[in-house]
Amino acid sequence: MSDCIFCKIINGDIPSSKVYEDEHVLAFLDISQVTKGHTLVIPKIHKENVYELTPEIAAHVFEAVPKIARAIKQEFNPIGMNVLNNNGEHAGQSVFHFHIHLLPRYGEGDGFG
Ligand code: 5GP
Ligand code: ZN
Repeated sequence: MSDCIFCKIINGDIPSSKVYEDEHVLAFLDISQVTKGHTLVIPKIHKENVYELTPEIAAHVFEAVPKIARAIKQEFNPIGMNVLNNNGEHAGQSVFHFHIHLLPRYGEGDGFG
């Protein structure tokens, strides 16, 4: 999708801080960093939301998520982590390329919830 920010990140047209990459999946730091280490995990194929995912694409993304979560845990040493996904404007989705938020948590006042 030519006007999709995350497709532009995948193509290297927009810079990002990469956390993980394989053939099917890219993970990079969220530009807003709700908490330290806040990371987005996306499929390299453009799919707008959870309803559009094929089993194969879902498998690729969810296979990568625990690896990336462990790497974030090791690097940032959070005391918890939220794994979140928003679908549709009314659920808080603002970028319409499917993504999982990995949100490390550091206790009260860490910026989330
Ligand atoms: P959503 O609200 O759709 O669940 O999450 C979209 C996320 O993408 C937001 O947390 C937002 O900060 C992040 N984001 C939007 N544009 C960019 C960008 O250009 N680069 C990066 N790294 N993150 C972005
Ligand atoms: Zn896209």
